[in-house]
Amino acid sequence: MTSTLIPALPDRQVRPLAHWIGGDWLHPEPGVELDSAILRQQIAQLPGKPAPCHEALAFGRSIGRDELLKGDFQSRALRLRALAKFLLEHKAVLYAWSFHTGATKKDSWIDIEGGIATLSAYAALAQSELVSGNLLHEGPSLSLGKQGQWMGSHILVPREGIAVHINAFNFPVWGVLEKFAPCFIAGMPCLFKPASATAYLSEVLVRLIDASGLLPKGSLQLMLGSSGDLLEHMLEGDVLTFTGSAHTARTLRTHPNIVHRSIPVNTEADSLNAALLGPDIQPGDPEWDLMVKEIAQEMTVKAGQKCTAIRRILVPHDRIDVMAEAIAEKLSRCQIGDTRLEAVNMGALASAAQGRDVQATVKQLLTATELFVDPEKAARPLGENLHSECMVAPSLLYCARPDHAEVVHSIEAFGPVSTIMPYRDFEHGLTLATRAKGSLVASLFTHDTGIAQDAVLKLAAWHGRLAVIDRDAASESTGHGSPLPALKHGGPGRAGGGEELGGIRAVKHYLQRAAVQGSPRMLSAITTEYQRGAPVIESELHPFKRHFEDLAIGHSLLTHRRTVTEADLVLFGGLSGDYFYMHFDDEAAKASVFGKRIAHGYFVLSAAAGLFVHPSPGPVLANYGIDSLRFVKPVGIGDTIRARLTCKRKIDKPSRKAGEAGQGVVAWDVAVTNQAGDLVASYDILTLVQKRAPDPAELR
Ligand code: NAP
Repeated sequence: MTSTLIPALPDRQVRPLAHWIGGDWLHPEPGVELDSAILRQQIAQLPGKPAPCHEALAFGRSIGRDELLKGDFQSRALRLRALAKFLLEHKAVLYAWSFHTGATKKDSWIDIEGGIATLSAYAALAQSELVSGNLLHEGPSLSLGKQGQWMGSHILVPREGIAVHINAFNFPVWGVLEKFAPCFIAGMPCLFKPASATAYLSEVLVRLIDASGLLPKGSLQLMLGSSGDLLEHMLEGDVLTFTGSAHTARTLRTHPNIVHRSIPVNTEADSLNAALLGPDIQPGDPEWDLMVKEIAQEMTVKAGQKCTAIRRILVPHDRIDVMAEAIAEKLSRCQIGDTRLEAVNMGALASAAQGRDVQATVKQLLTATELFVDPEKAARPLGENLHSECMVAPSLLYCARPDHAEVVHSIEAFGPVSTIMPYRDFEHGLTLATRAKGSLVASLFTHDTGIAQDAVLKLAAWHGRLAVIDRDAASESTGHGSPLPALKHGGPGRAGGGEELGGIRAVKHYLQRAAVQGSPRMLSAITTEYQRGAPVIESELHPFKRHFEDLAIGHSLLTHRRTVTEADLVLFGGLSGDYFYMHFDDEAAKASVFGKRIAHGYFVLSAAAGLFVHPSPGPVLANYGIDSLRFVKPVGIGDTIRARLTCKRKIDKPSRKAGEAGQGVVAWDVAVTNQAGDLVASYDILTLVQKRAPDPAELR
């Protein structure tokens, strides 16, 4: 049965959850009941039977992939943008269900609007960085033969498979969207298996996505509860991503079928992230206050259930007590309970099982630490009918001898728990930070650039991200714990060894890279990008007079010639104010490597533009940049230059509004040569080119 209704707000009923497989919502007999993390109330039931994994995978690989590849990078980016808008318009239902995960309004905002913002960010990245089509050329191309007729380069194409994403419970919305966005742009179908504890919220998200009607069939599927025999049916073209505990990560990574078929596994696991106070910082310095604030925030936002939360606080030994007191004072303002109440500023753990897990882990940590902030002494949770096992106040642990306390560097309490520990000197602090054997993030609070340089050299080998926080960055800092779409998320070693986000890098995880070799003509055709040495298309019509649709890769213009005179140098110097000796001082120029006065490189560029532009108004709307500029040989007085302008690459920008002509991006290869035919300057210019006006008949 298929339903495309906007999902309902939570009410007193227990909602049976469904798998979304093959475009249908499957409702087997309800199984395990799921509790609200805030209220003593059951809110949903997982399906009692695993999803038909084999069919789901096969459907994604066939229908899902076919449907996705009817579009291209650019058209999928537009859909992603529209989906982000749709989800934002319907976010109220997500917030309502997010409440039950134990979230405060701010926690929900991070999960929901952070996830939607990631969709928008990927739509924008794809629109500006990717081509139209489903093949990505990863240049530069290399000439492999003396005659220039044997070249090599790299291309990326969508993998022939499905991406299976197994997610942790803590970000039921962001966790789905941050993986979906790059996968969808790449053109790879997805099957999500969210964690059971908060699966009701991921299911609401997918129901909304279904209701939007924006996704091609089979591009996203959802299975809930047990993963059944999912991994048995994965094939060589598939990708597995996992977010969760290191223990589960090991189980998945070593699954015989995953090993046998060399299926790529991208893992984000436990992380004992550190925050370090720089040795230059004293109580009262802005960086001191920033660190105290950041720690309290990281311990309490999402009740500490963030993979990036600060688990270890490293402070010079002579300042540790003052720091611990300052953190304790901040934490004393923390009130847990029903997050709908104004006085409540910290939420609950996502499930009773998580509550028990955190308490058991704190017990283990206490074998090498003492309680500095005791959760038992915190204010009582506020509210009625509370799910008390989920209400866990912050614990600040104090570890006096961190060198001898392996547990604090190896066990993660995935809740509002952090351990403060002293370091003797900064080298010792850095060594302790890396004792976690690989983390997602470390933050350093210092105002001394020398300290930051030393620290980064050591920390970068063991961390996915480093945040150096000081007074200058304070007003704009996104803080220790926020992964951003443009920056890599993922750390080495214990943190799983995976990589997510990081801009277009994430899209490439779902594309297969191949080296490709051939003649320039072949590579131009394969990469849909003009390669020098390939035949060009010349005609009477100037390429700048062609609309976007009428331009073909290879359309080219060889300009007339121009002899560079001394007057050119003098006039250009006067115009630009550039009187560099190489253009004006005969004696100094003679003594230089060139042995003579030469023209300004920027004059050569300007003169080339003068040679190739068509002056009348035309479809070329603007020149917005130059890429890969190289001045290959000097141009002296008396040299004669000419330019070849060739349409190199086109990026179609689908029009956002019906009836609008729209425009595309065209990159032009420019080769400026001298009278001997030698290349003197080489670059790409980037232009916006208008499309033809839509046919009025089509608009009716
Ligand atoms: P988990 O117990 O490892 O579960 C993660 C996911 O794996 C869930 O969807 C779970 O499903 C599934 N799963 C468990 N056993 C499986 C198996 N044998 N085969 C297939 N799937 C299996 O982790 P969690 O308790 O949800 O999350 C907490 C942990 O995640 C913490 O340790 C935290 O550090 C880590 N985490 C890391 C990051 C990161 O980016 N590095 C982000 C968030 C969380 P069920 O729920 O149905 O069991």
